[in-house]
Amino acid sequence: MSEQSDQALESEYFQKLTKQMDSLLGELLDTRTELEQERQLFEMGPAIIFRWGIAPDWPVKYVSTNVSSILGHQADDLISGELHFSTLIHPDDIDNVTTTVERFLEGEEAFFEIEYRLIDSRGNYHWLFHHAMRARKRSDEVGTFIGYVLDITERKEAEEQLSLAATAMESSVAISITAPNGNILRVNEAFSEITGYAPEEIIGKNHNVLNSGKHDKEFFKSFWKALTSEGYWEGEIWNKKKSGELFPEWISVAAVKDSAGVITHYVATFQDISERKLAEKRIEQLAYFDPLTNLPNRRLYFDRLSQELVHARRLNNFGAVMFVDLDRFKQINDSQGHAVGDSILMETARRLTRVLREGDTASRLGGDEFVALIPNLGSELETAFQNAGRVAEKLFFELTKPYELPNRELIVTASIGIILFPDEQLTAEDVMKQADMAMYQAKESGRNSYHFYRPSMQQEIEDRYELEQQLNRAVKERQFVLHYQPKVDRGGCIVGAEALLRWNHPERGLVFPNDFVPVAENSRLIIPMSEQIIQIAADDIVQWQEQNLIDERFVLSINISAIHFSQDDFEESVVGNLLLKGADLTRIELELTEGVVIKDYDKTIEKMSALSELGIRFSIDDFGTGYSSLQYLHRLPINTLKIDRAFVKDVVEDSGSQVITKTIISMGRNLGLELIAEGVEESAQRQFLETHGCYQYQGYLFSRPLSEPDFREFLKHPFVINEKTIVQPIG
Ligand code: C2E
Ligand code: MG
Ligand code: MG
Repeated sequence: MSEQSDQALESEYFQKLTKQMDSLLGELLDTRTELEQERQLFEMGPAIIFRWGIAPDWPVKYVSTNVSSILGHQADDLISGELHFSTLIHPDDIDNVTTTVERFLEGEEAFFEIEYRLIDSRGNYHWLFHHAMRARKRSDEVGTFIGYVLDITERKEAEEQLSLAATAMESSVAISITAPNGNILRVNEAFSEITGYAPEEIIGKNHNVLNSGKHDKEFFKSFWKALTSEGYWEGEIWNKKKSGELFPEWISVAAVKDSAGVITHYVATFQDISERKLAEKRIEQLAYFDPLTNLPNRRLYFDRLSQELVHARRLNNFGAVMFVDLDRFKQINDSQGHAVGDSILMETARRLTRVLREGDTASRLGGDEFVALIPNLGSELETAFQNAGRVAEKLFFELTKPYELPNRELIVTASIGIILFPDEQLTAEDVMKQADMAMYQAKESGRNSYHFYRPSMQQEIEDRYELEQQLNRAVKERQFVLHYQPKVDRGGCIVGAEALLRWNHPERGLVFPNDFVPVAENSRLIIPMSEQIIQIAADDIVQWQEQNLIDERFVLSINISAIHFSQDDFEESVVGNLLLKGADLTRIELELTEGVVIKDYDKTIEKMSALSELGIRFSIDDFGTGYSSLQYLHRLPINTLKIDRAFVKDVVEDSGSQVITKTIISMGRNLGLELIAEGVEESAQRQFLETHGCYQYQGYLFSRPLSEPDFREFLKHPFVINEKTIVQPIG
């Protein structure tokens, strides 16, 4: 080959080589660019790329720069060895990491994966997932690992939460998770145990299947209000088990909200507190109840009494405290033994409870002292008093029944002290003191009795109550008699008499009507009394007639109470009783007062007319003291006006009385009514009345009211009043 052609060949070869080199270089550069791009891409991603030497300290050969954004460490520090990777691993994880790596090196696996914690530049641990394999490099057969690391902290935390939640669900506290509409999404085992619902039976159903029905709308309203405004509610609720049994639970409900603050779930945790309630009850029982009788003890009793005092004052409703003490209980206890004593106390408690109503409280204060608290006896003191008396009677009756002992009966009497409340501003202690005093009064008056505490306010009421009891007996035993006061005309002839009631009291002797008629009217005892009066009067007049003691003019007046008159069967009652005794109806006059006749005017006309048609006469008693309106009276079948004693009394001196008396007389005469003056004591009075046209008189001037035998004598003999007036017997 020539030198020139060699040279040409050579330059061609170089040119080719250069070209090849250029393209190779180009390719290399391209590859490098691509690699660089890929690296950049990696470094933007979540995985940190590592390469490190398989040597004791695992020296980092390469690490992608995103290590700084994820863990805060600088790649250069790691590569330079300033930071040792192995020292960053959590001390608890280092063993695991080391053994995993060693095992891998010994084995045949292509890669290994491991999770461990690594500290970041700020001192917080991150959970890392680490995937690695050997770098298969010809120059460095087994010398390095390559791999990537992912930060899995969030996933780990979520897992932890889940396992925490799972552990929580295993708790002995019942848990239910519901959707916002109350539908149950999840329950735990304790829930099923308490409620009896298996998860598959209850999930999807609304939580309200557990409602007991024991709570009202208001309760749920405040429940939901708290839950929506505060996100939490805690308290006691009664719920219903699958079996239908109700049970108390202590429940906390929390609303779970999402990041936007919208409620996504409710988590309810609850415990069955039946046992606790029972225990509480047992404790309460010990603290507030007497273990022997199970009655409320002194403490509870005072609580209730204080409450009742406030109530009674506010509602203006009376109540009573009855202090019961068994008579000579200590003697019984000592002589018969404590077992007998106990059984008597228990029986006393039972009897007390039996007599009392719901709302009353029987209590044992200690020893043989019991007390009954009886509220709501009425807003009228008098009614309350009577009601209390009735309860006391019943109580007394029960307590004094014989006690049955195993082989005989034992009579144990009791003394009861009673006080009505509220009286002024008495405290519970004051009330009890007074009840205690009343009880001692009962003991002093010979035991085996009951006694009302006597503040002045109650004295009158008590007297009236007693009077009523006595009147009751008086009616039963017909203790009433009539006295008769004659009525005379201006010639001194007897034209009739007024029957005046007297009560022949077994201890007090003759009692006058003003002292008991008001109470009789109040208790309506006046009705049976009235019937007896009419019968007696009828009996007597029939006798006088038979004995020819009276002439055909004689009319007997009977006073009629407003209460009796207002009875629907008044007419039948009067006529029936008169006819029963065979009385002549035309000789009977009923005395009514103005107030009575104008009360129910139409009814009055009806009643009076019916009786008037049968011949019965009517007079208006005490005329002038009432409405005095003849307007009302002229349509009534009235025969007589009786001028009230008050005018007659002053008619001689007082010009006012004179005017009134004269007016009544002239009005009565104009209406064609007869006139009679009552309470005529002096001749001057009689004179004035006669002068002005009143010709009939009744009063001490002629005669006081007389017993029936005396009146009969009076009818038989003439009676000289003065030289002008001689009361004449008939015939
Ligand atoms: P009254 O019907 O106005 O009876 C007249 C009263 O005046 C009688 O009193 C009588 O004793 C009395 N009196 C008679 N003459 C004189 C006198 O000259 N001077 C004075 N100062 N008093 C005289 P008494 O008997 O105590 O009766 C009082 C009231 O009791 C009666 O007033 C009458 O409202 C009522 N009452 C009497 N008896 C009965 C009855 O049987 N039934 C009913 N419901 N009430 C009766
Ligand atoms: Mg009268
Ligand atoms: Mg009168």
